[in-house]
Amino acid sequence: MELIDLRSDTVTKPTPAMREAMAKAEVGDDVYGDDPTINRLQEMAAAKLGKEAGLYVPSGTMGNLAAILTHCNRGDEVIMGKHAHTFLHEGGGISTLGGVSSCQLEEQKDGSLALEEVEAAIREDDIHEPVTRLIEIENTHNARGGVFQTPEYVQKLTDFAHERGLIVHMDGARVFNSAVAQGIDARRLTEPVDSVTFCLSKGLGAPVGSVLCGSREFIKKATRMRKHLGGGMRQAGIIAAAGIVALESMVDRLAEDHQRAKVLAQRLSSIPGIKLNPSVPATNMIFFDLADTIQLTTAQIEQKLAEQGILIMSSGPRRFRLVTHYMIDDQALEKTVSALRETLQ
Ligand SMILES: *Cc1c(COP(=O)(O)O)cnc(C)c1O
Repeated sequence: MELIDLRSDTVTKPTPAMREAMAKAEVGDDVYGDDPTINRLQEMAAAKLGKEAGLYVPSGTMGNLAAILTHCNRGDEVIMGKHAHTFLHEGGGISTLGGVSSCQLEEQKDGSLALEEVEAAIREDDIHEPVTRLIEIENTHNARGGVFQTPEYVQKLTDFAHERGLIVHMDGARVFNSAVAQGIDARRLTEPVDSVTFCLSKGLGAPVGSVLCGSREFIKKATRMRKHLGGGMRQAGIIAAAGIVALESMVDRLAEDHQRAKVLAQRLSSIPGIKLNPSVPATNMIFFDLADTIQLTTAQIEQKLAEQGILIMSSGPRRFRLVTHYMIDDQALEKTVSALRETLQ
């Protein structure tokens, strides 16, 4: 049975074009800077995001970690959202490994941080307090529903930060989803910020990897940090080759995933017991809550769907997140809607 896997866009498998590129990839020792495929991927990624340089890292988690540990000293504090991936899902790495603490603010509906609240969170120059060093923004914002922030907001937040001597890092794991959904060049979202990480391994379909981008000087320091973290890989051009295919051929098609997410959300909204939140998906994520009329637990619903070859995952005691990606076609949507309708009846 062909599985329909809506748990995440990380479940995407490399395309045939990626497999071919991987088989043929020219490689070298990347720790010596000798891997031509990685060098090319890094240059492409930096150019796409309007940055001077890029650094291939094994995961988005390491990208954010290397960025924050490069920008910050021990005892520094990062302002970020209460539902930021870095706060919730990266093992508290910035604190355990870097001695960096975080100050979390409740995000607004679109995942952005309100400037007045950021202003109030900036520490005084006082030995009792940590030193505010950096603001992290997440675009698209995962836990807030795959919502995106606009280039105007990013510019405003960054100007605000720079006026106060603060650094801005963007967790842009899905920054291309954000750009495609807004019909804009990704550079408009990333040029203002000091550094940005994005994932090749999600909707873009590559098997592994993220790229951290920023100024040449910053990337030089971050390369040392990546080594500290054990992320210096050798002939990793084999996996980076898939990343090049991802950047060349998988970005524009994200619009299809967004369109399917809208259709799926609309169809699901007609099923009694499903309450979409947000009501219209901004990108490729659909979040819904179960009404009290539904007796089944999320685990029971997951089980019943899995029996029909459909994988979904709860993201709260009565909440589900479904994610569309290139392996989900119209037929998969139909099957999922019917299975959920039947299960919840
Ligand atoms: C997936 C993700 C990351 C990084 O995840 P890895 O699994 O480590 O690649 C970072 N931020 C957000 C918002 C994400 O969704």
